[in-house]
Amino acid sequence: MRAPAFTDLLSVEAARDAILAGVVPVEAERIATGAALGRVLADPVSARVSLPPWPNSAMDGYAVIASDTTAAREDAPIELSIVGDVRAGVAPSVIIRRGTAARIATGARLPEGADAVVPVELTTPLDQAGRPGDRGRDATGPLPAACRVHEAVPIGGSVRDEGSDLRAGTTMLEPGTAMTAAAIALVAGAGVSAVRVHRRPRVGVLATGDEVRRPDEPLGPAGIPDANGPGLRAQVTAAGAEAIDLGIASDELPDVLKRLRGGIEVGADVLIVSGGVSVGPYDVVKTAMETIGRVDLWRVAVQPGKPFAFGVATRPDGGAPILVFGLPGNPVSSAVTFELFVRPAIRRLAGRTDLLRPADRAVLADPVSKGRGRRAFLRVTADRENDGGPLRDERGRVRIHLAGGQGSHVLSALASADALAIIPEANDSLPAGADVAIWWLDTA
Ligand code: AMP
Ligand code: MG
Repeated sequence: MRAPAFTDLLSVEAARDAILAGVVPVEAERIATGAALGRVLADPVSARVSLPPWPNSAMDGYAVIASDTTAAREDAPIELSIVGDVRAGVAPSVIIRRGTAARIATGARLPEGADAVVPVELTTPLDQAGRPGDRGRDATGPLPAACRVHEAVPIGGSVRDEGSDLRAGTTMLEPGTAMTAAAIALVAGAGVSAVRVHRRPRVGVLATGDEVRRPDEPLGPAGIPDANGPGLRAQVTAAGAEAIDLGIASDELPDVLKRLRGGIEVGADVLIVSGGVSVGPYDVVKTAMETIGRVDLWRVAVQPGKPFAFGVATRPDGGAPILVFGLPGNPVSSAVTFELFVRPAIRRLAGRTDLLRPADRAVLADPVSKGRGRRAFLRVTADRENDGGPLRDERGRVRIHLAGGQGSHVLSALASADALAIIPEANDSLPAGADVAIWWLDTA
């Protein structure tokens, strides 16, 4: 591929490829398995113990020799004498021989000699005097002297074999896996108490604009509340990174530079600046990016998403360059360009290999129009089934509506959207009924 010329209008893919080209995962650290939610494995994880580690009972009942029960019928039960009680967490001290059984709890280790468990529901307990208790009562209370078995059980019945879930030494998870709650349970359950995961990338977020105010500041006659700082920091956190608040800079080069250098000093892997990226008289962000590093690309054929700049800055301690993104100030453009370019880069830094949002096919319920020559990412909502899942037509397509006004300042439409619909560069409009690709967004 030819290196993108500085003045070209780049496609979304070319821009993303150029951004991702130099990005490698940040270093790894060892942390407790229980603290690894959302972290990405740097090493494969193998089971330290088999699961289960020994044959155990799947039911409350009696550990038996299966062949002792072959003749058992509902009205012609066989009788076994009880030689012990096996509890979970205690090594069994009894051996099961012909004609005997041990009461056993769910999860307790199968005693030697036994090869099956009869669930308590299929038994009647007998006391010392041979008097029967309630059929199939729960297996609590004093240990019966004997029990009747009303049904034959097969060898291995109600027994979980050693290693039937997982064998010790088996690779359970590969590098690049993001740890979910289930993955944490699996790894912990296989006896692995710590894992090597990539640290969370550190991402500095700087809002700019003389009109942009902190939440505790009066707006005055010409101020607006800061939407992008909090919004972008939340996107950073949701992408699996640690957000660093670099505050709100005025439209003065020294202020922008001071805050960006502050981010570099505290070890940011990525710097995101919102606003001030155009070529207006007060737009100092490109100059700031050139002062701390260089600008590698700008002008991408995307809507919303103008203006956008990407570059790198040098890390004081050497190592991989810091990625620097200049995002548009309009809040919807800022959020959408984050989705398209920043989120994939953060995910790669975090160690993930799945970088993009899940894609799907959809059909437009509303006609749409846009500028020709740029790919549009429209904010849309999907029709839903009663259970909340997306409603699909006979061809499997999700039916989508425009979420609201498509202006790059319309935050209400962004907040109600659950997907971005992708309208190709070549189209300046599409009728209702047209087939389009969508990207699902997190709506949680
Ligand atoms: P700019 O890219 O700096 O020219 O800003 C474009 C538009 O986005 C202007 O209307 C700004 O007031 C608005 N804007 C810029 N930064 C923010 C922010 N942090 N929060 C809300 N609106 C912003
Ligand atoms: Mg501005």
